[in-house]
Amino acid sequence: MTVDLAAVADNWRALARRAPGAACGAVVKADAYGLGAAEVGRALSRAGCRTFFVATPAEGAALRQALAAAPAEILVFDGDVEDDAARYDGHRLTPVLGTLDALARWSRHARAHGGRRAALMLDTGMTRLGLDPPDAAAVAAEPDRLAGIELAFVMSHLACADTPHHPLNAAQKAAFDAMRARLPAAPASFANSAGILLGAGFHYDLLRPGAALYGLSVVSGRPNPMQRVVRLQARILQARIVDSKTPVGYGADRLIAAGSTLATIAMGYADGLPRALGDCGSGRIGGTPVPLVGRVSMDLATLDVTGIEPGLVRPGCVVDLIDDEHDADALAAEAGTIGYEILARIGGRVRRIHRGGAGG
Ligand SMILES: *Cc1c(COP(=O)(O)O)cnc(C)c1O
Repeated sequence: MTVDLAAVADNWRALARRAPGAACGAVVKADAYGLGAAEVGRALSRAGCRTFFVATPAEGAALRQALAAAPAEILVFDGDVEDDAARYDGHRLTPVLGTLDALARWSRHARAHGGRRAALMLDTGMTRLGLDPPDAAAVAAEPDRLAGIELAFVMSHLACADTPHHPLNAAQKAAFDAMRARLPAAPASFANSAGILLGAGFHYDLLRPGAALYGLSVVSGRPNPMQRVVRLQARILQARIVDSKTPVGYGADRLIAAGSTLATIAMGYADGLPRALGDCGSGRIGGTPVPLVGRVSMDLATLDVTGIEPGLVRPGCVVDLIDDEHDADALAAEAGTIGYEILARIGGRVRRIHRGGAGG
């Protein structure tokens, strides 16, 4: 897997330019969607990013170590500090608080230690994480619940930003504004990648893009304006010409015509190549599409490379599973999933090569 860090930084600058009045953060949870949070975090820090979001305190601790002395606030979405306050303090992590209990715990900790920052997550219609309107009303009625806490910002998350005309977008924005109006004044953060593309009314003070930084398509049915970032290649272990009609792979349910050339690659579902791609996915060799045939195994998959120049299908040659023309979203479509899931599941055995980092 080759990750183009210069393209990540360009994508970050391009998103920031769409919202000149807002600061642009970066979501690097799940190891920056599988691309490597340390390398991506350092590249974005060099580009000027000062606010990073991760999912868990462990991810936050690793990112703090990678960023070392760089100025950065690291926020943890999954920010309940029940047994973890020391880790939050030790790595200077800021929790995103989404329940009244979590707020009470952090307030108690903050009061005992001279004050702490936190973000508040409001649930405005996604019904996943965050204070719902009655919870927010409780905070508004008893502002002491925030004692000791400096509000970094108040945030919410859009459920349908990838569908620009979905009525829930405007409904969530109205709910967000109504809830914010009753809480102590604080900067606001609302837009993920697709939310940024919804326009200025959704930008507020801080953007939270993830997927668009990594070159994924975030609005259904529209051309993807972001630079592609990821190339995923697998090595051919063996190639053969089959001399009679023959089945291939587990189950023996796919028959290959005599005279076909097959190539077996060192990548399977344990590496994140979805099993759902069996008999319907594709890769590319020298720019020519080649279909996956038979089932995807744990460590291996087989492609029909009939007609490809023999010099390109010898053991040691590579097949592109993801490249600029057949990108993560294209592979995802073949597997019946989304590009986010493809990238986030690329396995630990796949070597990450980061390019373009130094110039930022
Ligand atoms: C993952 C996440 C984001 C980033 O979403 P993208 O669609 O990848 O831009 C932003 N905010 C929250 C709360 C998230 O969980």
